[in-house]
Amino acid sequence: MKPVGVFGGTFDPVHYGHLRSAFEMLQALDFDEVRFVPCGDPPHRGITYASAAERFRLVQLAIEGQAGFVADDRELRRDGPSYTVDTLASLREEFPDRSLGLIVGMDAFLGLPGWHRWEEILEIAHIVVAHRPGWKAPDIGVLGELISEFGTHRVDDLHGSTLGRIHIHAVTQLEIASTEIRDLIAAGRDPRFLMPDRVRDAILESRIY
Ligand code: ATP
Repeated sequence: MKPVGVFGGTFDPVHYGHLRSAFEMLQALDFDEVRFVPCGDPPHRGITYASAAERFRLVQLAIEGQAGFVADDRELRRDGPSYTVDTLASLREEFPDRSLGLIVGMDAFLGLPGWHRWEEILEIAHIVVAHRPGWKAPDIGVLGELISEFGTHRVDDLHGSTLGRIHIHAVTQLEIASTEIRDLIAAGRDPRFLMPDRVRDAILESRIY
């Protein structure tokens, strides 16, 4: 069976940068599905601007009708800080024999050594890193060593084993960030074309930002 992609983030709000990378991953890596997992209570990021329920709703609207995209609310259903390692453990329980691929942007990957019980992540899943504008893969330090030990250029390796590899994958670079979208909305400007219209309409109607 094909791998399940796990795309976590605050998604505050979700935008075309997220959607396009997830779609390219789904297709290029031949994943069965990509699960968008909005962070319930972000341990690293402190506050979010929209509530977890609102961010989840926007993700649902964003992916509506796209085959292979799934909105996953497990972090909203769990109490306490949303640690990725716990999310992966819960997915591993649900999919004991499937390959799991945690999808992260390069900026997020560079922060990996600061994550709660990060060393356990590769014991549960693969890590797939999306190149993001301006970010370069580390070749020294903890992450450099990790990439030289577990890195693979072969997509087949993500299918042939269920966990334990790191794959760095270039995606079309869309320089969009949720922070800029929130600032733009706060300044009274229109976020149209940075996200699906359904998401934009819901944000403007409910004045989330
Ligand atoms: P913020 O501006 O609030 O930091 P963000 O736009 O970076 O938000 P997040 O929800 O923090 O969005 O990101 C979730 C995941 O998506 C991370 O792994 C991040 O690296 C990735 N990501 C964010 N923006 C893009 C983009 N434009 N292209 C590709 N990946 C992205």
